[in-house]
Amino acid sequence: MRLRIVAANWKMNLRVEEGIKLAKEINDFVETYPMEGKRVVICAPFTHLTQIVSVVNYWLISVGAQNCAEWERGAYTGEVSAEMIASTGAHYVIIGHSERRKYFNETNEILAKKVSLALKYALIPIYCIGETLEERNQGILYNIVKEQLEKGLFFLDEENIKRVVIAYEPVWAIGTGVNATPQQAQEMHSFIRNLIKDKYGISIAQQIPILYGGSLNSKNAKEIFNEKDIDGGLVGGASLIPSEFIEIIKAL
Ligand code: PEP
Repeated sequence: MRLRIVAANWKMNLRVEEGIKLAKEINDFVETYPMEGKRVVICAPFTHLTQIVSVVNYWLISVGAQNCAEWERGAYTGEVSAEMIASTGAHYVIIGHSERRKYFNETNEILAKKVSLALKYALIPIYCIGETLEERNQGILYNIVKEQLEKGLFFLDEENIKRVVIAYEPVWAIGTGVNATPQQAQEMHSFIRNLIKDKYGISIAQQIPILYGGSLNSKNAKEIFNEKDIDGGLVGGASLIPSEFIEIIKAL
């Protein structure tokens, strides 16, 4: 059975003490809730990682970063490496979020380097893919997602691809309040799983969690998570509101 995951993406929000408070609230909830086969991941700003790791129950909540450098170490002022992230006790890292692709010009080629470094330091990449509204309207959504997968992930061998989590996040649904319908999301998730199957075989395709992200909230999560190829979600805005995020975890 595939692991089911709800991952919070706090983006550039919360002071350290606010992050600790929120993480503790989420932790208090999951410690009282049946979590077999499920995992919560909190992707916090770099500055918060060490302290968030120290306040959550390791068995129930994993901590992640939201990005890592494309270089291993050295004279790259202001960058944070995969090795540094791993040394905080974090276990995940979001790679290729659409905001990074858009505002920081991160290409699939750059992201492939980040994926490699994350895996080298035993971090699980949450590799984000998804089309813009324009690409959807032009009917090239499948080409875009295929290219993002082929260039950013499909260079991995069988052992390494099994360690990756994929997040399908249609750009038009991120932070807009307009989520993909369960059917739209399922269609893309099924397409993604088929691409993995064609490249790596059915057994690996069945093992890789594929999360949906884009305006998930307490009202729409259940229906979306019920779809057969949707193994959980990557949650932005709603992950900052404890009651909302807890309802999303319950929907898993
Ligand atoms: C995200 O940033 O990954 C995201 C899905 O944001 P939101 O839930 O706010 O749409």
